[in-house]
Amino acid sequence: MGLQSFDLNGKVALVTGGSRGIGKAIALELSKAGATVAITYASSSAAADEVVKTIVEAGGKAIAYQANAIDFAKATEVVEDVVKQFGQLDILVNNAGITQDNLILRMTEEQWDSVIQTNLKSVFNYSKAAIRPMMRQRKGSIINMSSIIGITGNAGQTNYAASKAGMIAFSKSLAKELASRNIRVNSIAPGYITTDMTDKLDEKTLEGIKSATPLGRPGEPDDIANAVIFLASDASSFITGETIKVDGGMAI
Ligand code: NAP
Repeated sequence: MGLQSFDLNGKVALVTGGSRGIGKAIALELSKAGATVAITYASSSAAADEVVKTIVEAGGKAIAYQANAIDFAKATEVVEDVVKQFGQLDILVNNAGITQDNLILRMTEEQWDSVIQTNLKSVFNYSKAAIRPMMRQRKGSIINMSSIIGITGNAGQTNYAASKAGMIAFSKSLAKELASRNIRVNSIAPGYITTDMTDKLDEKTLEGIKSATPLGRPGEPDDIANAVIFLASDASSFITGETIKVDGGMAI
């Protein structure tokens, strides 16, 4: 079959949490690769509009939806609207996520629930909605934004680590369910990436992270977007149920 390309012309992608950080980079790169891109966001409407504007000004097609990822009914509504507007859905990137760090002794029930709901339930919501059009098309790629914390664990992040490990197990299970329909489901496990999410970390923690990263630099959102393009494209057509670490070697 020869070497496959990363060309996404004619494909339609949906990225949750596409207004900032990693999700924004993914949306922009998917568009550069040729895809029509829909993004969701929780509250940053100006930032989301800016992402759409950037894509449209470069000649691409994009749309933004304000949609809290924990809302099951809204996820179905968004996916149905994407299919109505653009005729299909080929790529789903479950990227929306938050941290609410605390040691278990201090962690509140609200902190536990909001991280599990935002990071994990959202993946159920959007995957369940997206597989309908993907099954009709007999093709699709679902990409779940996990974290190396979901593999290694981290003190102060029991809620986040559990949500991210849950995403990996969810991906493997869904990959087995949907392989016969030619829908692939994979995860990406980023290490430390420079975004608003990691902006909150203090200098000492940052230094520790850098020295624990063999490649010696923090990751950039584009490092993750590159892996997404690979998993979204036919270049990865024999890969499903996999987790790709993009972490500068941190979790070796
Ligand atoms: P970020 O800069 O904080 O951006 C988060 C994005 O998710 C924003 O677009 C935000 O929308 C959206 N979002 C948050 N809660 C949402 C909700 N309830 N419903 C819909 N959208 C919601 O985070 P990031 O660093 O880019 O992280 C993106 C993903 O990568 C997350 O899943 C994160 O866990 C994962 N990750 C990040 C790192 C890292 O080092 N940065 C490492 C490993 C994994 P608004 O703009 O409206 O708030």
